[in-house]
Amino acid sequence: MTATIAKIIWLVGGLVWFFLRFQPRQHSRKTPVSYSGRGPREFALLAVSLTGLGIVPCIYLVAHVPRFADYALIPALAYLGIAVELACLWLFYRSHHDLGQNWSVSLDLRERHTLVTSGVYALVRHPMYSAFWLMALGQALLLPNWIAGPAGLVGFGVLFFGRVAREETMMIKAFGDEYRTYMRRTARVVPWLY
Ligand code: SAH
Repeated sequence: MTATIAKIIWLVGGLVWFFLRFQPRQHSRKTPVSYSGRGPREFALLAVSLTGLGIVPCIYLVAHVPRFADYALIPALAYLGIAVELACLWLFYRSHHDLGQNWSVSLDLRERHTLVTSGVYALVRHPMYSAFWLMALGQALLLPNWIAGPAGLVGFGVLFFGRVAREETMMIKAFGDEYRTYMRRTARVVPWLY
């Protein structure tokens, strides 16, 4: 395992992720949005997340910037990174599959929105965010650079903590006691823990 191979694996993971998202994105677009919580705040959160998970590591891959923050790759961590990426892609696929038409990139409710509580949504309330945490962790393990590696954890962390409580408030407004009951029996992103 070399740094170049680890970088290529990160890139391939990103391309597979893009491919997995493409179809559900086209599919859910057909169902109109009935309520949207989008605004400058959501836009900023998405931009920060995209910067940490995409732009910073891509600049590192293409231009090798910031070079001063490089460290020698630790193969065992890179292998762990591959396992984490695979888990991420599996969970990402499953959560898109289970959420179906109800998916959106931001805080939206669609016409005929249904509350999904089965499949991976029976384990945690935010499995897609769990998948993003895994993606950010995989990036930190695969890219041997103190800035490009952890950038995903910081970027997605800002989106997650800036959004998750507002998303749950939106879901309570839409589904009332059904969502409150669901909250009582599930953790947010790590089964039984958080
Ligand atoms: N937070 C979820 C979904 C991310 S997509 C996850 O991590 O898996 C964001 C959209 O999904 C939100 O706008 C909301 O409308 C919708 N959503 C979130 N949880 C849902 C659920 N349990 N059932 C149906 N829709 C849900």
